Amino acid sequence: MFYDVVIIGAGISGTMCAYKLSKYKLKIAVVEAGIDVAAGSTRANSAIIHAGYDAKEGTLKAKLNVKGCEMMQELTETLGVHYKNCGSLVVGFDDYDREQIEILKKRGEINGVKGLRILDKRELHKMEPNVSPSAVCALFAPSAGIVCPYDLAFALSENSVTNGAKFYFNFKVSSIEKTDNGYAVSDGNETVTGKYVISAAGLYCDEIAKMVGDPLPFDIIPRRGEYMLLDKAEGKTTQRTLFVTPNEKGKGILVTPTADGNIIVGPNANVVDEKSDTSVTIEGLEEISEGARRLVPNINLDAMITSFAGVRSTPSTRDFYIQESEKCKNFIHVAGIESPGLASSPAIGDYVVDILKKSGLKLEEKTDYIPTRSKEGNFKLFYDMTDKERKIAIEKNPLYAKVVCRCENITEGDVVNAIHRPIPAYTSDMVKRRTRSGMGRCQGGFCNTKVAEIIARELGIPVDQVQKFGKNSNILCGKTK
Ligand SMILES: Cc1cc2nc3c(=O)[nH]c(=O)nc-3n(C[C@H](O)[C@H](O)[C@H](O)COP(=O)(O)OP(=O)(O)OC[C@H]3O[C@@H](n4cnc5c(N)ncnc54)[C@H](O)[C@@H]3O)c2cc1C
Repeated sequence: MFYDVVIIGAGISGTMCAYKLSKYKLKIAVVEAGIDVAAGSTRANSAIIHAGYDAKEGTLKAKLNVKGCEMMQELTETLGVHYKNCGSLVVGFDDYDREQIEILKKRGEINGVKGLRILDKRELHKMEPNVSPSAVCALFAPSAGIVCPYDLAFALSENSVTNGAKFYFNFKVSSIEKTDNGYAVSDGNETVTGKYVISAAGLYCDEIAKMVGDPLPFDIIPRRGEYMLLDKAEGKTTQRTLFVTPNEKGKGILVTPTADGNIIVGPNANVVDEKSDTSVTIEGLEEISEGARRLVPNINLDAMITSFAGVRSTPSTRDFYIQESEKCKNFIHVAGIESPGLASSPAIGDYVVDILKKSGLKLEEKTDYIPTRSKEGNFKLFYDMTDKERKIAIEKNPLYAKVVCRCENITEGDVVNAIHRPIPAYTSDMVKRRTRSGMGRCQGGFCNTKVAEIIARELGIPVDQVQKFGKNSNILCGKTK
């Protein structure tokens, strides 16, 4: 198959490009090194839809952030993704912070952010009573929000597959050759050919760029951010995302609700030697605990149910780099997509489509385009259904009456559905990210083996062959009796 467009990387940038392009009569392929969508930075981040006052005026990042934030509500509604327009607060503690907050407000207004307002101490504490009593003011950004980042990437991919795109997983691009009519992209075993190539490989965009002989004109610096996730019982700690004023490393340690009702604390921002280093350290947890207590002194960090880390692909220029290669026609770099790459993603997708159009790609809209994740619509989990919807779901499929994950109220119907969706789940982590089974207080202690049994039954494989995340991560190793 010769594709019109080959996209490298199934993070939020690559899947958004696939989603935007699948509206048109085009053959699209996405090649991804991991076994699933959202294997890189898109999997582990703060999940904030930033309003757009952080990025320097006039940068591409500023432009795409504000636009992307404005587009997020409609996009997530169309695709059935958890999103909440909760607003954000940059909390100030002294005169220096107040000056910084005024600078951010001015910058935000130049960038086009709507509704920015500086709150005094009284108004701030009325809005968020748990914020530190020593806080004196805050910048309120009503347009900011929170989203589930990997579910957004799943939704974009599922919609793309439903509309004809093809995803190749376990496909780590190791060479790219120019051909007479485009490019041959290979992982050493298999080759995918296409007229246009979009490099959306996150931290590895520099390596991909070298493969076509067009090295990026900047460095990608891997900066790890560590997090603590608190139990849903702490979900009312804050209703809005709480930031401190930014520093040279970035936006600082924040406290925020998540789109699924937990509280998240973090991230720090430390340069790491290995791009794949997502380890969590004692020092890191101490650093983020201290940062969180500064914002919310009575935060209950004992309610931590898990910790994790993600790695940013920080460009040394501190701006997004999205353009057609000057050396290689029809090769598009989508590089340096550090924060707010998630918030900007809908606008990044449009920006890339525009580049392709200017470069000569014919964009003819499909008449049979399906706007949802599957022909039947979006996938609603049992816990998101109304009582009436639950009744109908159970009548149609009694597996919806069997709760598998008691912490998150996930049913066997949800798990089976995840295993058969357009991008199928076949490990317990894949099921977890699609359904939230194992994401609650017990972190899979009770439901993981049940999920393994369901995967084995649905795929017709022995249960001891079911894996947690691929790479021989078998959940069970043998019989005890
Ligand atoms: C700690 C942290 C906090 C953040 N907080 C926020 C936030 O609150 N709001 C926000 O807007 N943004 C935030 N971001 C930034 C956001 O997560 C990123 O901008 C975004 O996820 C980048 O998406 P991407 O698709 O460009 O890259 P990625 O998600 O990294 O995707 C790249 C994909 O390419 C694949 N790949 C790599 N090499 C190859 C290869 N050779 N062959 C095939 N595939 C390959 C990878 O496996 C990966 O799946 C944060 C990031 C981090 C790390």
